[in-house]
Formats: sequence, structure tokens, C-alpha cells
Amino acid sequence: MVVTRFAPSPTGYLHIGGLRTALLSYLWARRNNGKFLLRIEDTDFSRNDEAAALAIVEAFKWVGLEHDGVIEYQSSRLAIYQEYAQKLLDEGKAYKCYMSKEELEALREEQTARKERAKYDNRYRDFTGEAPEGREAVIRIKAPLEGSITVHDGVKGDVVFNVADILDDFIIARSDGTPTYNFVVAVDDALMGVTDVIRGDDHLSNTPKQIVVYNALGFPIPRFFHVPMIHNHEGKKLSKRDGATDVMMYKTLGYTPEALLNFLVRLGWSHGDQEIFSMTEMLELFDPSDINRSASVYNVEKLDWLNSHYIKNTPNEKLCELLEFHGVVLISHDKREIILDAIKERAKTLVEMAALITEMLTRPEVFDEAALKKGYKEESKAILESFAEALKNASELHLPSDYHHVMEEVVGKLEIGFGKIGQPLRIALMGKLSGPGLDSVMAIIGVDETLARIDALLAHQ
Ligand code: GLU
Repeated sequence: MVVTRFAPSPTGYLHIGGLRTALLSYLWARRNNGKFLLRIEDTDFSRNDEAAALAIVEAFKWVGLEHDGVIEYQSSRLAIYQEYAQKLLDEGKAYKCYMSKEELEALREEQTARKERAKYDNRYRDFTGEAPEGREAVIRIKAPLEGSITVHDGVKGDVVFNVADILDDFIIARSDGTPTYNFVVAVDDALMGVTDVIRGDDHLSNTPKQIVVYNALGFPIPRFFHVPMIHNHEGKKLSKRDGATDVMMYKTLGYTPEALLNFLVRLGWSHGDQEIFSMTEMLELFDPSDINRSASVYNVEKLDWLNSHYIKNTPNEKLCELLEFHGVVLISHDKREIILDAIKERAKTLVEMAALITEMLTRPEVFDEAALKKGYKEESKAILESFAEALKNASELHLPSDYHHVMEEVVGKLEIGFGKIGQPLRIALMGKLSGPGLDSVMAIIGVDETLARIDALLAHQ
């Protein structure tokens, strides 16, 4: 059985890079009828923030990624880590080191002066004497002293680390008994039965250390997939300056979870040149061995394009629900369908949709000067008056097409082109020359409001 996990450190909001690896882990587990676990790595008590753990859970809910089982918090598993550190001590695979901070610092300075890599010199590795008085011990694991460790990575291929360049007998438990990062990750992944670790490639250099822990404890080593980072257009790691990095910001900005997930799956993974993937398709097609080897580039235009695709294809009832978050309540509006049909083709985000709807439903307070100059001509007054007259005489005006017929009738009678009525009418209805189809706007606001808006423009001119 495939078991994957997402293991965020709760030091802030959920970053979109994190959501991407969570999504890939989720897809791979679900595709294999396996398990997807959520583990909060909160053993760094100085940096943890409870609100951040909640924010991660909230973001998971919003995008609809469901994890299996309870959320595991490392902070409640300290006794387990102590037990395994003790096991390694008992088996002689780890040892207590009494080196003081000052000694360690002095060693580091000497090594740096000799232009050597700063590393622990194993001075307590074979120590059998009495513990030096007043010294607290840390626990160090016996790492290999020479040779190499190969990470068999499903994305990068075999990555060989030379032990002399990267390892020393690293600390697995601090003097206060708290365990260190690489130790707990390996212990948890092993105890939780994780078979496939999919995570950012910023963790690749931790992997040999975790392999040391697996080997010492006799645990099988999982498959690793290190996913390249998301970059900005300049080829640098994505930062807040490049756009939103907090997943929940995307909700605020009016993106749908479907669009965001589709966007993220394509950042770093491809299937031919297909761009649009429903969740069902992702689940059918995603394979971590197809993850791209090079960094992917964050491109907000692509996200906008995907979002407009999903908005267009979202049923109106669902759109109503989504728009409420953005302050537009249409649920009991009798013209709800016409409103949404008129707008959903035009908006890139739900925020834009909400703004367009509000604009349409609100009588313009000002008329754009440039629009008036361009679209309101000498003959416009008479044309609008004829149109208003025709509207008053018409009966049964409900659908956009009913209003269209009245416009047709008027342009036919006056022997003018559509533009001659369209432009001033648009200024009357929207205050400017852009906006949704006029027929729809009139059908939505109704005859009385249409006449009132025409009157307001005529009074203004
Ligand atoms: N806790 C780590 C982080 O948030 C991830 C550890 C892992 O995936 O192995 O970066």
C-alpha cells in the first residue's frame, strides 16, 4: 500500500509551494488507494505558532484535500522519540556527547581557520569514562565515517553524497531531551508506514541524514521524490513580492480551489501538453516519476486563464455560494440566472465577478467624460427618447432577447446602426462604454430602472 504524507512545520501560513507538494502526495496516495497523512512538525517550540497549524488545516479544507486518520502533532509524540533515541543508545548506535558549547565553538573556529568544513570531531564516540561534572549530554548518532550515501530519487535519479563532505555524528536529542528535526522526520515516516516521501528539493540535503537514522533503526527506506522549487520569472525562489504565496490569499483574491489545484499540479508536472485537469483526471494520470526535473515558473496569467475556465464551467448555484464570500448575495434574486450567465464569461476571478455584478445592479453616479465624448452625439438624445418610448409601449419584457427586439425595432424605424443606440444606452446604464451585454443588463434591472437610468443621463446632458 502506498502511504504518503504532508508534513508542514507550522511556522506561518500554508505556502503555495507546500500546497503543491501536499497535492502531489495526495494524488499519488489516492491513485493507489493508499493513505495520505497530515503531520504537523511542531517540535521547534521557539518557532511554533498554534494559529499557523490551524491555518494549514483551514487551507486544506478550502481546497478540499482530505487526509486519512487524525492529524499527528509531533509535539505530542516526544516520548516516542525518546524511546527510539534510547534504543539507539542501548544498541551502541548512538552515544552521549558532553562537549560544551564553548568547546564546540572553539573547534568550529579552528576548522574554519584551516579552511575545513566545520563538523563534530567524534571525541565522545568511544568515550567510556565518567560523565564530566555539571555537563549536560546531547545524544549523537553514529554516522558512517567514510564512503557515500546514495539517495535513489524518483525525480532526480541517484544522488550520491560523499560522507566526508556532508555528514558527522549529528545530534538526535538535545540536552533538554528534545529531539532534532532529521531524527523525528525519519522516525515518524517509518512508524507511520510512509512509503513515498514527496517533498520540496530544499530537503534533499537532509535526506542522507534521515537515511542514517533509518539504517540505524533498521527501518526500510521509503521512495523519495524531491520536487524542484517554484521560481519567479527571474529564476529566483518565489517570494511574496512575486504575488500571493499564502494559500488563503487565493481565496480572498477570488480564485476557485479547482483552478488553484490545476495550476499547482501543472507547476512541475505535465502530461503531454494538456493544461486543464479535473480532479478525476489528475487522479487518473498523476505519477510522481513524471515530475519535471527543473524548476517551474510561477505565471499568474496562467492561473487567471484557468480560473476563468473554471468560473465559466461552474454551475450557477455553486457560483452563488462562492460569491457570497465576496459580498454578493444572489441566492433569492429572481434574475440570478441571467446575471450569472451575463457575467461568468467575462470575469477572471470571483472578485471581478462580484465587482461587475455590483456595478451592474447600481445606478451610475457619474458618467465617464471620455465615454460621453466618444459615445454621446448630438442625435443621441432623440435616439434614447425613442428607445424609452418604445420600452414604455412594449409589453412582456423579461428576457434579454425581449429587450433586443425593442432595440431592433427602434434602429429599424430610425434607420440607424446599432452603435448609434448602443453607445449612449451603455453610458446611461453603466456610466461608461464597457460592461456586459446591454440586453442582459436591461433584463436584469428591468424596465423601470432602465428608464430611470436613461432619464438620469438625459437630465445630465
Ligand atoms: N517540516 C518540513 C517543512 O515544512 C517538511 C519535512 C518533510 O517533508 O520531510 O519544510
